[in-house]
Amino acid sequence: MTDLVLPADLLPADGRFGCGPSKVRPQALAHLAEVGDQLLGTSHRQPRVKDQVRRLQQGLNELFGAPEGYEVLLSVGGATAFWDAAAFGLVERRSRHYVFGEFSGKFATATAAAPWLESPDVVEAEAGSRPLPSPAAGCDVQAFTHNETSTGVMQDLRRVDDALVLVDATSGAGGLPVDLTQTDVYYFSLQKGFASEGGLVAAFVSPAAVERIGEIAASDRYVPTFLDLATALDNSRKHQTYNTPGVATIFLAAEQVDWMNDTFGGLDGVVAEQRSKAAAIYGWAESRPWAAPFVTDPAARSLVVATVDLDDAVSADQVNAVLRANGILDTDAYRKLGRNQLRVGMFAAVDRADIEAYTACVDHVVERLAG
Ligand SMILES: *Cc1c(COP(=O)(O)O)cnc(C)c1O
Repeated sequence: MTDLVLPADLLPADGRFGCGPSKVRPQALAHLAEVGDQLLGTSHRQPRVKDQVRRLQQGLNELFGAPEGYEVLLSVGGATAFWDAAAFGLVERRSRHYVFGEFSGKFATATAAAPWLESPDVVEAEAGSRPLPSPAAGCDVQAFTHNETSTGVMQDLRRVDDALVLVDATSGAGGLPVDLTQTDVYYFSLQKGFASEGGLVAAFVSPAAVERIGEIAASDRYVPTFLDLATALDNSRKHQTYNTPGVATIFLAAEQVDWMNDTFGGLDGVVAEQRSKAAAIYGWAESRPWAAPFVTDPAARSLVVATVDLDDAVSADQVNAVLRANGILDTDAYRKLGRNQLRVGMFAAVDRADIEAYTACVDHVVERLAG
């Protein structure tokens, strides 16, 4: 079946639909190739590289219209390292977690394993749905996940008590609407919504979060330097990181943020475009007898990661194999979810026309498989 050649006029201009790493815009790569020898292989303590860090921080502030007093913190190691950093440096005693898939579960696992913390208070919802936030007595952190990448469900963010609100926005940031005043730490790796490479987290931190970081740093809790948020904050204010970052990661993310600001005039414009892409793919799934959106509540359907269940008669593995052989990549379901499903990353870098081309290609493959 993988011999099936898709007609050239059906193919998307760019075949990258993964949920992370996700499509890096070719224009950003070309720009990196152009200026790279002035940046890569030079000291990250010198102005050239620090200017790129500043460009990223300022661009993010502009994109999100960051509230007064919020700062952009950079932390090496990606979201996975940030969960440990948060367990060390942001949770005082006990955290509340909303778990509704693979990624939201991982931070809860990290705090559960931390011997200096009480066992976390975990509220779970079934894969494909989302838990409702509620006050959590005795917890000093409320941990949300803006977009559960494994299921394609987005969560509403809001303060429900006095706890610090920590949001893993690794796939949601730069695609979903957000009111940062409802959050204290809105953190995200850069290889998803920001079309860059892995290994670095950017986080909007509120004054209350900065205060918490300072209090814990001043306490007698042991914190490994690599995961020390007080150190990360101190360095971020100087437009650098404690240890060496991937400079290409910083550059590509800054390119993407500038492109988003220039093209869409800020996050509202990006989100409007995301809504139109989401309407296209979910509308398509609803109109095909052999497909359906996995997430039943339309309000919970992600604007950045679409999950589409296929009928038992149509094998998603076969569809994906044909697509892959034709250069359309990475739309496999999250493996541990174990569903007959397509999962499509449609972050800001992915053009609406390519989403439509993707659905036309799937139609073509399914017709041939059925015939
Ligand atoms: C991809 C992803 C992560 C993991 O990010 P890393 O940078 O690989 O650590 C965490 N949370 C969410 C929501 C993700 O989508």
